[in-house]
Amino acid sequence: MSAPTRPEARRPRRRAPLWTPGGIPAPGQLLEWRDGRHFDRWQDLPSVLCEQPTPMRSHYGEPVHKICAEEWISANPKQSRLGRFASDTQPKRPRATDDHA
Ligand SMILES: [Zn+2]
Repeated sequence: MSAPTRPEARRPRRRAPLWTPGGIPAPGQLLEWRDGRHFDRWQDLPSVLCEQPTPMRSHYGEPVHKICAEEWISANPKQSRLGRFASDTQPKRPRATDDHA
């Protein structure tokens, strides 16, 4: 056979978030990253934006400092709308914590 072995060369680059992202902050706004899944306690990896090691991960598993992601959003307002970096979903109401006055 003359066909070169090419394993999955045309694999579609599907970007599925590791878990459901919430809203995308407007440029200049801060990301809400409270979910523990943003923090990889096992290893630091180079931030995709500044290449300094970070334990932080985006919803897509990209190693990135939160501050870097926020700066990226400010620098790339248009692209940011595609949802590369998003805040966590807002919990509806975190189970009435002593709400009585
Ligand atoms: Zn960084």
